[in-house]
Formats: sequence, C-alpha cells, structure tokens
Amino acid sequence: MGVTTAELFRDDASLAACEAAVLAVDATGVQLDRTVFYPQGGGQAGDRGELRLPDGTTLVIADTRKGAEPGTIMHLPAPGQEALLAALAVGMTVQAAIDTERRRRHMRFHTATHLLCALVPHPVDGCSITADYARLDFHMTEPLDKQALTEGIARLVGQARPVGHRWISEAELDANPGLVRSMSVQPPRGQGRVRVLEIEGVDLQPCGGTHVANTAEVGAVVVTKIEKKSAMTRRVVLGFL
Ligand SMILES: [Zn+2]
Repeated sequence: MGVTTAELFRDDASLAACEAAVLAVDATGVQLDRTVFYPQGGGQAGDRGELRLPDGTTLVIADTRKGAEPGTIMHLPAPGQEALLAALAVGMTVQAAIDTERRRRHMRFHTATHLLCALVPHPVDGCSITADYARLDFHMTEPLDKQALTEGIARLVGQARPVGHRWISEAELDANPGLVRSMSVQPPRGQGRVRVLEIEGVDLQPCGGTHVANTAEVGAVVVTKIEKKSAMTRRVVLGFL
C-alpha cells in the first residue's frame, strides 16, 4: 500500500546493476524497492536481466512491466523458475542486473528516434523501440526519402551533441504545448513534474525513456524501410548497420 519502486534508470540510464530489497513476490513477478530495470513504456521495450540471490543463485528476468499500482514495477521471471521464486522472501536483498548489451541497443535506437523527430517536423502517432529495430509513425501525407533521412541521422550523430534530461513542472509544460511531439504517448500527469529529454540544439520533448549521453554513441543507424501505413501515416523503420 503506497509502496513504490525507486526508478534509478530515470536519472542514470548507464546503471547496469543495483542492490535492492524484495517488496513483494508471487508467481507473476517480483517487485523491488529500487531498480535499474526499465519497464515497457513510451514505445521502449522492457529490460531483461537477472536477480542474484544471497545464496548465489540467479533468477532470470524475461521482461519488465509497470505494476497495477501506480509507481510500481514488476520484474517478470522467465518460465520454469518456480523453485527460485519460492526461495525469494519479502525483505531479502538481491542484486538486480540488466542485460546491458540489449539495453544499449534500446538506448541507441531511442536517441536515434529523437533525431528522426528533429528531421521530420510532423506529429508522431506511434513508436516502437526494440533491440533489433525501431519504428516511428508520422502523421503526414508527404513522401519521405530513405537516403536523405539516413544521411540526416549520420550528420547529427557526427556532430556529437550532448543528450540530457531535466524535470519541468506541469505548468511549464502547459505553457509550451509545442514540446509534446507525440500524439500517442502523452507525458504522464499528476506527479507535478514531467521529464524532458534534450538533444542540445536538436530536439526537446517529454520522454521517460533511456538514452545514450551523446549522439555520437548512437553509432551507425540507418533507415531500412519507409512505408505508407495509411493515407495519413508514414512509417520509418530504423536498423543497425
Ligand atoms: Zn523518447
């Protein structure tokens, strides 16, 4: 009741592991008092990884989701680990460690989607960021050029722009409606503050996701496909070289 999970990844996306206490556990998942695991949301996939128990055994986490209670995060176990789950007890200290290679791909792609937003000045009405590809749906009718967008991303990556976040008040957000680029993902309300992601001189928008610290870290990302999803939607798919 009223117990929430401290979201360490929001202020430091580079954290790979943390010590945490078990708040609740059942067959469906484990809730911790703090975590480095990003829960699926804002288009970005949930993290995978493992929880290391005090006796040295490890529980494999297959996915991370927001819990039913606001502010809670559920670490979902991979199948076939009933005995390990039963060994977890409320209050037990565990080491929570994410699959850093997979997360790194999410971070590179997520920052790349923001670069794409800066190159395509139209509202976004869909977004999906996975380890293998990312896609953004733009609400627009004009055609898009694959090669020009790939070159645009490469140019911004080459400029090595710093990427950072800060928290602003909801009042500040309301005073700047232009900040909200996405039609499908509205920033969470009711907490008094909203996290905004800034790519210096390129893009500024509300975002709760995990990002690289500099556009140079995005590396070689290319536009693999452009699709006309509907009369009013152009889908851009990104991949790694
Ligand atoms: Zn974002």
